[in-house]
Amino acid sequence: MKDKNTGGLRRFAIPPAAEKILALLNGAGYEAFLVGGCVRDLLRGVTPNDYDMTTSATPDEMRRVFADYRTIETGIRHGTLTVLMDGAPYEITTYRVDGAYADNRHPEEVRFTANLREDAARRDFTINAMAYHPTLGVKDFFGGEADLSARCIRAVGEPSRRFAEDALRILRALRFASTLGFTIEEETAAAARAAADRLKTISAERIREELTKLLLGDDAEKILSDFTDIIAAVLPKWQEYTTADGKYAVADLAAWLAAAPFDAVARYTVFFSLLPPAEAETEMDGLRFDHRTRDRVVKLLSHLNDPCGATPNGARPFLSGLGGQDALLLLDLRIAACRARGADSTEEEATKAAVAALLAEEGECSTVSDLALRGEDLIALGFSAGKPLGLALRALLAAVVAGEVKNEKQALLAFAEKNLLNKGEQK
Ligand code: ATP
Ligand code: MG
Repeated sequence: MKDKNTGGLRRFAIPPAAEKILALLNGAGYEAFLVGGCVRDLLRGVTPNDYDMTTSATPDEMRRVFADYRTIETGIRHGTLTVLMDGAPYEITTYRVDGAYADNRHPEEVRFTANLREDAARRDFTINAMAYHPTLGVKDFFGGEADLSARCIRAVGEPSRRFAEDALRILRALRFASTLGFTIEEETAAAARAAADRLKTISAERIREELTKLLLGDDAEKILSDFTDIIAAVLPKWQEYTTADGKYAVADLAAWLAAAPFDAVARYTVFFSLLPPAEAETEMDGLRFDHRTRDRVVKLLSHLNDPCGATPNGARPFLSGLGGQDALLLLDLRIAACRARGADSTEEEATKAAVAALLAEEGECSTVSDLALRGEDLIALGFSAGKPLGLALRALLAAVVAGEVKNEKQALLAFAEKNLLNKGEQK
């Protein structure tokens, strides 16, 4: 079978569960495709995080098709049904045309359509607007594949209109440019800058999620320096550093970020380092950070300039009040800062060694925050956030202290999976 859109049929390896969902929908007479990020990633040769699907079946029709399977209906109002297949969740959404955007947050109305092209047209960027079916191939209505090869982020349709509909897309453009190392196409970039002010109307949670992904991207430092005007719409203080003589501060910070570890707390510490710790705290509250992340960043910021001492006693201030894990993170950040400035980091390296030695000597793990993994790692493993997660972290701490497991990420994950995951805790 030949596909007009692609000039040929390609097959990608996808999970059997996803094949089965597509086949069940097709067997009941509906169209169904993989769509969005997973198609982009398959075409890039990268394993997708998840496999979202889009279908001509309405929510009620989907319910009937998956009557014999476990489903989750939280997104059903917007046409999304989550189906559990082979133990993993798959989001299936009815082909949709988004209505007017009243508050820049949610489509005011959701209108379903029988037309895949219309569903693709509502999506943000050409590289995110492709669909794939094992026997029909890639459906690419807006030149997504060409943009993927050109490493280009381009809005679907008229950029200014798309950013006016949903200003979050402005930050998403920066996020994808950062994580993929792509360039934002000229007209799309200009429209994003022109609409940046509208980001103020977007909910803090949605902004924070995109900002975190942006900061953890390979090209974060480039995007932060190229789009200071857009970042200033998220963090107004930023504007002060984008004036003629302030440019230096952002360039400096970008270089620091380039050398910083790929850890959200570390990278937010760099991001907020232009502010005094108390102001960073206020900004982070405004962006609705969880308190633990906020507290760690604020603490790192307030210890940023502590004097270094390469002797065990000199290293002690880094440990008091910070905890082992954050003391080492802070030192990594300071080493990164030296590297960024081309300065000598012997003192910081020696302090890090002294801190590590102190930790080894005094029992390196005294609180949950010293564990070599994070709550997110356990959630990825299948633990639920909240109480089960807290219990698991404490159980891990107890096991480390008792010497049953090493305080190393892989060891902790294996231990948690083997001994903790199924005790009342299921994915
Ligand atoms: P990731 O791999 O990081 O999850 P993704 O492309 O899957 O990237 P999501 O935020 O999970 O990104 O969104 C899934 C898809 O939904 C996108 O690929 C895009 O087609 C569409 N989409 C998401 N958010 C928007 C938006 N604000 N406006 C238009 N389309 C969007
Ligand atoms: Mg996704």
